Amino acid sequence: MNPADLHIRIHQVMERIAVAARRAGRRPEDVTLVAATKTVPSQLIEQAIELGLRHFGENRVQEAEAKMKNLPVALRQASTWHLIGHLQSNKARRAMELFDVIQTVDSERLAHQLNRLAAEANRTMPIYIEVKTDPSATKSGILPHELFELARSVAQCPHLRLEGLMTVPPFFERAEDVRPYFRELRLLRDRLNQQRLVEYHLNGLSMGMSHDYEIAIEEGATLVRLGTAIWGPRPVQE
Ligand SMILES: *Cc1c(COP(=O)(O)O)cnc(C)c1O
Repeated sequence: MNPADLHIRIHQVMERIAVAARRAGRRPEDVTLVAATKTVPSQLIEQAIELGLRHFGENRVQEAEAKMKNLPVALRQASTWHLIGHLQSNKARRAMELFDVIQTVDSERLAHQLNRLAAEANRTMPIYIEVKTDPSATKSGILPHELFELARSVAQCPHLRLEGLMTVPPFFERAEDVRPYFRELRLLRDRLNQQRLVEYHLNGLSMGMSHDYEIAIEEGATLVRLGTAIWGPRPVQE
């Protein structure tokens, strides 16, 4: 893809985000676009940063590391990197070094490990708890009824800052069918706020992908994670 095409795609996506936000009585600037970069080469990411994109999401620690190494330091510093894929504990240290936000905390053990690593690095790591809103999903995310206990543990980790909740709902041909899952995540966040597990107002809802982000925004998404809508279709992976 050439820079002109990328520019048009980013512009179109931003416009659709703004329209969806206004339709829901929200402000466009309250929704952050996170460009999902799995399989996307660093050259293209570089162009996107130059075109003004600031937030990027990677699924795998190793893939992220390879790409970030290739980014000019100034562009790395101008960008914020979110881990949006499952994190294994043997990659936690590297993840802490590479990422600015970890969106996929799904166990107390991982939370405590990240808290220790953040303490060592003398920093506070912004995190999201990944909730499994799709009961048939086999991996990643905690079940809704386990959320409150995990949130309580995270709240007691001084080097983690809980920003909100993240989910990957099931895929439906009809994007409208996914709405209940987004709504569920919003209600869970609202219940966390009612329980006052953290002393500030929790706002973050990372939900919505290329296929369904407008619906996610109507349901309150503060971060949408878009790959295909920005970069075009990914090469088919096995
Ligand atoms: C790949 C991916 C996305 C983006 O998916 P698209 O359908 O290409 O927009 C978002 N979130 C996660 C966790 C992903 O793995």
